[in-house]
Amino acid sequence: MKKNYNEDEYYEAICNNPAERIVIYGAGKYGGLLNDWCTERSIKIDSFCVSDASNNYSNIKGIRVRSIDDIVNEKISTLFLIAIKNSDYIELELEARSEYNYLPFSNWMIMLNKWARKRYESPIIEVTPTIGCRINCKYCPQGMLLSSYNIISDKKEMTLEDYIFFVEKLPNNVLIDYSGFVEPFLNKQSIEMMEYTASMGLEMALYTTLENVDFNLVGRILKIPFREVVLHLPDEERYSKITIDATYKKILEILVNAKKEDGSPYIDSANCHGHLHHEIESIITGKVLLKGKMMDRAGNIANEKNDLCSNSILQGAIRCSRSKLLNHNVLLPDGTIVLCCNDYGMRHVLGNLRDSTYEEIMNSSTVMDIYDQMNQSKYDNLLCRNCIYAEVVNDLK
Ligand code: SF4
Repeated sequence: MKKNYNEDEYYEAICNNPAERIVIYGAGKYGGLLNDWCTERSIKIDSFCVSDASNNYSNIKGIRVRSIDDIVNEKISTLFLIAIKNSDYIELELEARSEYNYLPFSNWMIMLNKWARKRYESPIIEVTPTIGCRINCKYCPQGMLLSSYNIISDKKEMTLEDYIFFVEKLPNNVLIDYSGFVEPFLNKQSIEMMEYTASMGLEMALYTTLENVDFNLVGRILKIPFREVVLHLPDEERYSKITIDATYKKILEILVNAKKEDGSPYIDSANCHGHLHHEIESIITGKVLLKGKMMDRAGNIANEKNDLCSNSILQGAIRCSRSKLLNHNVLLPDGTIVLCCNDYGMRHVLGNLRDSTYEEIMNSSTVMDIYDQMNQSKYDNLLCRNCIYAEVVNDLK
């Protein structure tokens, strides 16, 4: 059974391992943080390892980034430190190559990242400013959302006025994500909502396909101090119907080459639902960190080909690894707050900011019931029991 090492156990496991070299599997955020952690403890890392080196940086802080096959073919005894969350598929990749000497991703690594820690501890509202997303990605159950939302409301678009009303009800330390259940720029007032949020001094993250973004809009986007920007890129298989034309490619290039105020890349990372589309390969490759594997949205997408990260129904007491207090929620155009971005079927509606305060919603009997259901296995209709972000409490250190 997979062991979730605490930090001391992890260090000890590395020190006691007889392998000739140590490789970090994962060249993303956690790979970099784990490398820093190792450096502080004088643990020498030989390489970073990835599934496909062609879509990655060639080195990080002077350490080579290499493909798993290159590393395995050298036939040198290796300890792999997995630095990718939800890493079951990485373990399978290693074992398929007869590499069994690895340490799994452990929860304490998440807290190495200050932004991740802040996101775990702070209230977050993901804004869904429009209902209905024309991009209609294969891995996004839009039909499920539409049929649930249409029952409770006919308000499809959030206006700037609505948004200001909602934001004024949120706590001062809230983080705002533009993501939710839709491409945010499908709502023409989203940019004004973002500018308003920046003027309020709130921290924001942007998750976008760039659908509907033109040259005028990209200029305004670049002036907003997003704390994190993640792109969803088009795939060769066309699972996501993101428009690829000359304007899109030019805008993508502008953003990929832009910098934040602190000099770091404007784009933090990107994801793609299949293989990167050939028309954007030359813009992205080597410049943007591609990460993430598709997941089944807590069982809301059928995992027919067994190629999605998923969890079978978890037993026992569980908790959410994304939010300490179940306060990483989604705001819909009419003010409805649902549990989280996996809740496309609106199984857990927490309340509505139109007629309640934020505090009333977060202390409501609905939220208390969810905590109760997290503590008892018999509630297998709880979305969290099927979610890859849920953790069995007894497994935690
Ligand atoms: S469904 Fe998953 S992400 Fe959502 S609150 Fe539950 S455990 Fe967290």
